[in-house]
Amino acid sequence: MTGMSRPLAPHHAHAVLFDLDGTLVDHAAAARAGVDQWCVELGLPAGQWNRWRKIERRWFTRFERRQISHLGQRVERAREFLGRPDLSEEEALRLYERYLAVYRANWRAYDDARPALESALVSGATVGVLTNGALSMQTAKLERTGLLLDGVVVLAATDLAAAKPQPEAYATALARLGAEAAGSVLIGDDWINDVVGARRAGMRGMYLVREGLRRDRRAPVDEPVIASLAELEWAR
Ligand SMILES: [Mg+2]
Repeated sequence: MTGMSRPLAPHHAHAVLFDLDGTLVDHAAAARAGVDQWCVELGLPAGQWNRWRKIERRWFTRFERRQISHLGQRVERAREFLGRPDLSEEEALRLYERYLAVYRANWRAYDDARPALESALVSGATVGVLTNGALSMQTAKLERTGLLLDGVVVLAATDLAAAKPQPEAYATALARLGAEAAGSVLIGDDWINDVVGARRAGMRGMYLVREGLRRDRRAPVDEPVIASLAELEWAR
């Protein structure tokens, strides 16, 4: 109970891993801007963010389960959203690129992201970003948002050959960092990928539920959450 009643006590960690989208960078705002502009360009009705989000989640989950490639989920998202299952892969990716251009232009770090990375680095911990996105895009995202600090290692699913919550994703990431699971922590906004999966891998998982967002129904009601990365404190 002590841990639950005092979630803000400084933590000891040898390795601190952060999720990227929804944790360090506001993915939802950028994706929403991307899809809104895409609809304008393609002459589609406005206000399709929720439909896009559901399609994204469904296909991205298939990628996480290794049922489809990373590029393949992009193709299928474009085909389904545009209602054009006949699109060739090439054509689907060409159209998807228009969404991505606006998505990229709208990348913004959360205000608490850089200070959180810096304080983890200052604590002497090994610091990584463990993301289910593609390595090239996620590295560019961190760079463009001022988060690719010296010492921060980018660990992306396309490079690890496994995505969260597959056990290999955490194990491979920790091996890259030269860190043990015990003594390592993952902080993220996805209950399954960042908390449950991390714990299954022997790490500590900390659940971030930013203001205005709902916690996952599968999370126990007494699970301590942080609403901001500013609540993190690392013991040296
Ligand atoms: Mg996330």
